[in-house]
Amino acid sequence: MGSNDAPDFIVLGAGPAGLMFARTATEQGRRVLVLEGAEVAGGMSKSISFASGTVDLGPHAIGTGLPRVREMFDSVLGGEFDRFQIRTGMLWDGQVYSYPPTLSELLKQRGVRYCLRAAASLCLGRMSPGLRKPVSCIETSAKCYGRVLVDDCLRPYLLRLWGDELDRVHPSWKPGRFNTGGVLSWISHLIRGTGDVRILHPTRGMGDLYTRLAEHIQSMGCVIETCQRVERIAHDGERIECLVVRDARADQAREIDCRHSAVVSTLPVPALLGILDPELPSDPHSTESSLEFRNTIVCYFAADEASVPARHILYLNDQSFYSGRFTNYNMWGKSMRPTADGRAIISFEFWLATDEFSNARDERLIAAARADAQRLGIRIQTQAEPRVVRIPRSHPVLTNESEKAMRALNQRLSCFGNIHLTGRAGSFTYADQDVILNRACELALELTRDHQRSSTDQ
Ligand SMILES: Cc1cc2nc3c(=O)[nH]c(=O)nc-3n(C[C@H](O)[C@H](O)[C@H](O)COP(=O)(O)OP(=O)(O)OC[C@H]3O[C@@H](n4cnc5c(N)ncnc54)[C@H](O)[C@@H]3O)c2cc1C
Repeated sequence: MGSNDAPDFIVLGAGPAGLMFARTATEQGRRVLVLEGAEVAGGMSKSISFASGTVDLGPHAIGTGLPRVREMFDSVLGGEFDRFQIRTGMLWDGQVYSYPPTLSELLKQRGVRYCLRAAASLCLGRMSPGLRKPVSCIETSAKCYGRVLVDDCLRPYLLRLWGDELDRVHPSWKPGRFNTGGVLSWISHLIRGTGDVRILHPTRGMGDLYTRLAEHIQSMGCVIETCQRVERIAHDGERIECLVVRDARADQAREIDCRHSAVVSTLPVPALLGILDPELPSDPHSTESSLEFRNTIVCYFAADEASVPARHILYLNDQSFYSGRFTNYNMWGKSMRPTADGRAIISFEFWLATDEFSNARDERLIAAARADAQRLGIRIQTQAEPRVVRIPRSHPVLTNESEKAMRALNQRLSCFGNIHLTGRAGSFTYADQDVILNRACELALELTRDHQRSSTDQ
């Protein structure tokens, strides 16, 4: 990093991870260039306009106690955010429960015998840690909530999210609200419920956080270039030497020298491997095939507000539904509401366990989501055209094989010395924004410390 005008860090991707890295490194006095393929920053956490309102790409809440994330959130938004109890429900056998269900709901809707059976399996699950460590996500979930509830009401959700090889999904993953604390805390959760937790949400949509974060770090001297898709990463086996970047507006490619910079990638790992030039020699763990992703498709509609369930989120756990989750955006932030009276903006998400939907045309997805709306008694408004948004590679599928493949890959990449991975798809960790933001911040602090040390040594 001896050259005078080279950036210290070139960050690939301006999603939450790339922006948080750039913020921290810029604050530490480093020169940072961020290259983003899309027109705007924010990645999967951006917001879009729909039917005269604002929507996120699926519900996007931050429920964080992580101090670095909270500090960034407060300083960027300056109070323009809402903090509220999120009302999350799940539909199971045609009835709405809290997510996860509470004891009183189970007693009322499924009866005493069922509750006794569920309680027995829950106790068994809780006692099993001493006997055997879970080896898959389904076992972790059963340990938290008992095999009976997991098999009856959660399996369809887990199958939708991860596909039909649940036994391969890593035991470190469990549904977000599942309490793994001590016995007293889970009894209290079962009685009081854990579904309605407090979350943070920017008043004008999650994307507002990242648009403003991008503006803020640019004002500190960081350069963010949008519409710049990284197409090739050339290396000599020891260092990343140069990036080939295509400007989508001018349809022109240019080269960026990175011999004197460190490259921080948040691009999906298989995409990064695909543009390394020359390709890395193939690996015994066959990295690419072990790194599977799930895709998300979100279908947005305008609906009659009076017919829409008063829940921020509703998980559609009945197999009769095509989609996995319903969101009512009218409940998220006043500035997100549509201007038309009596209208609500809603969405249905498909997580694509099946190729049938992955490759489906928009019309087919809209028809399936409409059928789900009808089952929920929602009246769709026809004045506003529905919108379909495809989010490829949204969920890295964590398995024992993918963990092994990532370890091998990190080892191979470490020989370059000037490339580092972070982010959800970039380091192949299924995690929410707060975790992603925190890790990117930690990486920036670590690398700027190393940089400082190597400059002092020279
Ligand atoms: C439906 C859905 C709901 C979610 N709900 C929540 C929630 O409630 N709470 C929560 O905290 N998180 C939620 N998340 C997760 C959250 O969106 C991610 O954790 C977060 O966006 C990951 O940030 P990232 O920077 O790692 O990746 P991304 O957001 O994917 O950003 C990566 C960036 O890299 C850019 N890029 C890719 N390839 C190239 C290239 N070749 N050249 C240049 N740029 C490139 C992309 O355009 C993108 O901007 C949800 C995600 C989805 C899909």
